[in-house]
Amino acid sequence: MGRSLQNTMINLGIQSSVDEALYQLGLDIEELEELEEDAGLGNGGLGRLAACFLDSMATLGMAAYGYGIRYEYGIFAQKIINGEQQEEPDDWLRFGNPWEKARPEYMLPVNFYGRVVDTAEGKKWVDTQVVFALPYDNPIPGYNNNVVNTLRLWSAKSPMDFNLKFFNDGDYIQAVLDRNLAENISRVLYPNDNVFEGKELRLKQEYFLCAATLQDIIRRYKAAKFGTREPTRTNFDLMPNKVAIQLNDTHPSLAIPELMRVLVDIEGPIWENAWDVTVRCCAYTNHTVLPEALERWPVSMFERLLPRHLEIIYHINFLHLQDVQKRWPGDMDRMRRMSCVEEDGEKRINMAHLSIVGSHAVNGVAAIHSEIIKKDVFKDFYEMNPEKFQNKTNGITPRRWLVLCNPSLSDLITEKIGDEWTVHLDQLTKLKQWAKDPNFQRAVQKVKQENKLRLAQLLEKDYGVKINPSSMFDIHVKRIHEYKRQLLNCLHIITLYNRIKKNPSAKFTARTIMIGGKAAPGYYVAKKIIKLINMVANVVNNDPIVGEKLKVIYLENYRVTLAEKIIPAADLSEQISTAGTEASGTGNMKFMLNGALTIGTLDGANVEMAEEMGDENIFIFGNDRRRSGRLEKERLQRDGLL
Ligand SMILES: *Cc1c(COP(=O)(O)O)cnc(C)c1O
Repeated sequence: MGRSLQNTMINLGIQSSVDEALYQLGLDIEELEELEEDAGLGNGGLGRLAACFLDSMATLGMAAYGYGIRYEYGIFAQKIINGEQQEEPDDWLRFGNPWEKARPEYMLPVNFYGRVVDTAEGKKWVDTQVVFALPYDNPIPGYNNNVVNTLRLWSAKSPMDFNLKFFNDGDYIQAVLDRNLAENISRVLYPNDNVFEGKELRLKQEYFLCAATLQDIIRRYKAAKFGTREPTRTNFDLMPNKVAIQLNDTHPSLAIPELMRVLVDIEGPIWENAWDVTVRCCAYTNHTVLPEALERWPVSMFERLLPRHLEIIYHINFLHLQDVQKRWPGDMDRMRRMSCVEEDGEKRINMAHLSIVGSHAVNGVAAIHSEIIKKDVFKDFYEMNPEKFQNKTNGITPRRWLVLCNPSLSDLITEKIGDEWTVHLDQLTKLKQWAKDPNFQRAVQKVKQENKLRLAQLLEKDYGVKINPSSMFDIHVKRIHEYKRQLLNCLHIITLYNRIKKNPSAKFTARTIMIGGKAAPGYYVAKKIIKLINMVANVVNNDPIVGEKLKVIYLENYRVTLAEKIIPAADLSEQISTAGTEASGTGNMKFMLNGALTIGTLDGANVEMAEEMGDENIFIFGNDRRRSGRLEKERLQRDGLL
C-alpha cells in the first residue's frame, strides 16, 4: 500500500487546504509526510496491483473489499553494506498505525490440525486447534466521489483457553508464553517474489486468510435481507449473484475447498449445489508461468494441518478427472497432466489446477501472458473449457502514479486537456495535438529536469552520492530476479565502461545508471547479482578516465515510497525480462505515465505499450513472438501449406 496520508488528502480533495493550514501553523506538510512508514505488506508487483485495484474500485464506487493479513513485520528493509544486501526487520507498527481500526466485534475462529470423523450428519472436523482472526479495517477512499471502501486485514489472536492443559498443570507462566505460538501466524511476510517455498507456517497463513475471509463473506451474505430464506437455512443458490471472490494468484486458492467445506459440512447444501455456488463465486487470476513459482503443497502437510480440506480436494479431483475421462476416454496421460494431485515423487496438490477447476473464469494479466496460458502452461484446461479463459491486462492507479508523485506534470497536462484524465486516462491522447509544439515540449522537459534535480538532491542528502542531473537517468528498479535480467544490465554497464576506456575522447551521452530492488533473503544468485552491480559501480565510479560520463548507483531499499520519488525523474525505463517470463509488469506503466522512454523486450504489457505508442516510440530488442509468428505464416504460405 505504501503511505496513506497524501493519497487520502488527494482523494478527499483537501490537499491544498491542509497544506495551507499547516503552513499557517508553521509546519511543513512534506516533512510530516516523511514520518509515515510504508505499509509494505507484499513483495512486489502482485501486491501493488491489489493496492491499485482497491483505489480504482473505490473510485468507480464499486462495493468491494480487500482482504489480507496484517503482518506485524512487512517486507524487510534492505541495507547495502560493502556492496551486499543485509535484511532488517520491518517494524512498521512500532509507533502505532493511525489508519487502522481494530474490529474485535468481528473476530472469528480459524481451525487447524485435528481429524475427520464420520457422523450421521456427515463429516465433522474435530479435535482442532483454534486461532482467532482479529480484523483491522483500513479506509480506501475513492477519488473525489465520497466513497470509502475497506481493506480488512486479519491479525492472529490466541484464544483465551490456549494451552489450558498447562493451567491445569499449574504452569501458568508457560501457558501465557505459549500464546505467542498461535499468534506467530500473522508475524511476518514471506519475502519471496515469484518463488514457491513450501513452509508449513506459510500454508497456515494462506488458510488463515481464507477461513477468516469466507466466514466474513458468509456472515455478511446471511445478514443481507435479499433472496428467499427457508425457515432454518440460508439459500446459497443466490450467493453468486451477490458475491464475487477474485483469487489474486493461487495464494488464497484454499478459498475453494474451504467454501465447499463450509457449505457441505456446516450450512447444508448437497455437494452438487455447493460446487455450483463455489465455481460461480470464484475466479482466478494467474500471475506467473515460471515453474518454480507455482504452488504445489505436499499432501503430507495437508494431512496434518487441513485433513478435511485434503478429502474435499481429493473429491473435487475425482469428479474433475471423471469429466476429463468422459471427454477424452482412455487418455491416461492427459488425466495425469490435468490432475490436481501430482503423483510423481512426493505427492503434491497443484494449486493452479485446483484454482482453474474451482473457478468460472481464469485470466492472465497481459495479452501475451494470457496467450501463453492457453497455448502452453494450461493448454489441456483451455481445450476442456475454452470459455473460462480471459485476459485482463494489469494497470496502475493514475492518482498515486501521476497526480501524487508528479504534481508538476499533472498540472501541465490539466492545463492543456482539463482534469478528467485523472479518472479517464484514455483522454491523455488529447495531448497529441501539442506533441510537436515547442512551448509544450519545453514545459515538459523543464518538469523532467526539475524532477531529476530533486532526485539528485535526495540521493545526495540521504545516501551521500553525487550525481550529474544533466546526465541521462537510466533506471532499472524491481525485485531482483534472474528472469528480470539485472545481470544483462550489468553486462551493458561493463560494455559502456570498456567503450569509454578504449576511446576516451569519443562522443558519449553522459549516463547515470540506477539499479534497485530487493533480493529474497534465500535467493543466492540474486544476492550475488546485487554484489556484482555494486562492485562494478565501485570500478566505474572511481575511474578518472570515465569521469562524469558514466555513474552507477545502487538504489537501496526500493519500495513504493522510493518508487514515487524515482520514477518521475527517469529518462529511460529498463524493462528487459527474457521474453515470455514477465506476466505483465506494472513498473513499465508507471515509467511510461511519467514520460520516460522504455527500452525493453516484447514481454508482458510491454507488447501492448508498444502497440499503443508505436514501435517508433519504444526501444524493443530480443525475441519477437509477433514477428517470428508472421515469418512463420509467410513461410507456410510460400511453401503452399497455408
Ligand atoms: C510497481 C512496483 C513493483 C513492480 O515492478 P515490476 O517492474 O513490474 O516488477 C515492485 N515494487 C514496487 C515497490 C513497485 O512500486
